[in-house]
Amino acid sequence: MTQVQDYIRTIVDFPKPGIMFRDVTTLFSNPRGFRMAVDQLLHPYAGRRIDVVVGLEARGFILGGAVAHQLGTGFVPIRKKGKLPGTVISEAYTLEYGEAVVEVHDDAIAAGQTVLIVDDLLATGGTAEAGIKLVERLGGQIAGCAFVVDLPDLGGRKRLEAMGIEVHALCA
Ligand code: AMP
Repeated sequence: MTQVQDYIRTIVDFPKPGIMFRDVTTLFSNPRGFRMAVDQLLHPYAGRRIDVVVGLEARGFILGGAVAHQLGTGFVPIRKKGKLPGTVISEAYTLEYGEAVVEVHDDAIAAGQTVLIVDDLLATGGTAEAGIKLVERLGGQIAGCAFVVDLPDLGGRKRLEAMGIEVHALCA
């Protein structure tokens, strides 16, 4: 039977030499694959209290929006610097070359709300960690982080679990 990973293709040397880019657009464009991915992402959280689903730009918006719809929660985007129109809080994090900044509206999550963070892929965990910090600065409690792909050699899962965060991924 076809699994989620069978719908994901790998593009070699994108966006630069040495990177094996996991392209989930082929998963998203397949009706069965997309439904399977969304169902499996939310499965560990069905029946648990989730108040808000947070998606990480950009592929986390596509998955997170669908997960939020299924769970019957609201959706909050964490965006790259300069994209959100209202008052934001920011977190900087380190990339392989240089630094990136992500932001969330400062009124998007209320203190005490339980949050599920969704993205397509966990690599070093830097992006997810910055997202977790933003949610926690607003007083949100992280129920977990859900990814389609985990690249375990890059250490993201260990990094998030060391912070006490529950991590689920559908494939490696
Ligand atoms: P990281 O912060 O290192 O965990 O990187 C995760 C973020 O970068 C996610 O938002 C991914 O979409 C993207 N990303 C990192 N590495 C890859 C890869 N090999 N293929 C596709 N996306 C990636």
